Amino acid sequence: MNILTVVGARPQFIKVAVVSRIIEQTPGITEKIVHTGQHFDANMSSIFFNELGIPEPAHNLEIMGGGHGSMTGRMLEQLEAVMLAEKPDGVLIYGDTNSTLAGALAAVKLHIPLYHVEAGLRSYHRAMPEEINRIVSDQLSARLFCPTKLSVENLAKEGITSGVHHVGDVMYDATLFAGSSARADSDILQKTGVQEGDYLLCTLHRAENTDDEARFRKVIAYLEDAAKDRIMLFPVHPRTRQVMAKYNITPKGVKLIDPVGYLDIHRLLAGAAGVYTDSGGLQKEAYFHKVPCVTLRDETEWVETIEAGWNRLWTNPTYQQPRGNIEDYGDGGSARKIVDILMDAS
Ligand code: UDP
Repeated sequence: MNILTVVGARPQFIKVAVVSRIIEQTPGITEKIVHTGQHFDANMSSIFFNELGIPEPAHNLEIMGGGHGSMTGRMLEQLEAVMLAEKPDGVLIYGDTNSTLAGALAAVKLHIPLYHVEAGLRSYHRAMPEEINRIVSDQLSARLFCPTKLSVENLAKEGITSGVHHVGDVMYDATLFAGSSARADSDILQKTGVQEGDYLLCTLHRAENTDDEARFRKVIAYLEDAAKDRIMLFPVHPRTRQVMAKYNITPKGVKLIDPVGYLDIHRLLAGAAGVYTDSGGLQKEAYFHKVPCVTLRDETEWVETIEAGWNRLWTNPTYQQPRGNIEDYGDGGSARKIVDILMDAS
């Protein structure tokens, strides 16, 4: 079975790393990776390929920037050409980015079976670009790999019940694989000058927070307030960096640094007293490290983290108590389950 995998953005590199590793170990299945170019800065892309040992992409499309339509359209055109040339038995897509959507459309129009990792997540907030990408990709997929039971239920509500598998969360696999060596291998605490257990960690990049000036200023003011008692370390996403420059904003009490690699972010998570984020991935990684998280959004698709008391929305001042464990994300064997199901599908 020959799989063509489409990735393009930071969270996808982390997810693909664990699945590609299992594919490499499994006879009878091969993979070629297409990198669309959506994230291209070294610290948003190549650092993950190097640190996580992701196979070199067979195709680098170098498609970046532009509006959603322009970016997705250019990807669609080039992905179709790649799929026609490669003739894969299946196309594997991850998550909810424009690269996911373009990969989905290109594959199904060519009648190539589509497989979606991280299927069934819903925020039920259609102004969020990721939500549209999820809904369309799920509707088109032949196999849907769900991280949680709730994501299986979400799909059922939309009439999708065939080819649906609750496999757990590949991000947990990734945390077990790389996160554990972070403590030994990363010197990010020394580099940034923060003390173990005595800093907050923040990331912020969702369009709903960055694209509206009033909203962005409100979130920054909230972060400044949180950072009054403890320094906050903030690896700044390139989009957020641009918005800060545009509005001439420098948050007080917050130490801005460039985005860091996977080992460094796990070291920072492990030592943090709290996490403030609008990232889907970081909400769960905070839980994996048992660090309380505040989600800088008005809703989340990772509701288990809220129900287990490790996460709260910034609109809600309290965590649910008592704090519990989340079984849904699995035991670190999600990637193996996905590859086994792919083999069965062939
Ligand atoms: N991440 C990272 N370096 C950083 C910030 C985040 O490696 O400076 C990782 C983070 O740990 C998580 C992934 O990037 O595994 C999440 O990506 P992002 O927040 O861009 O996307 P989302 O999860 O919101 O889709």
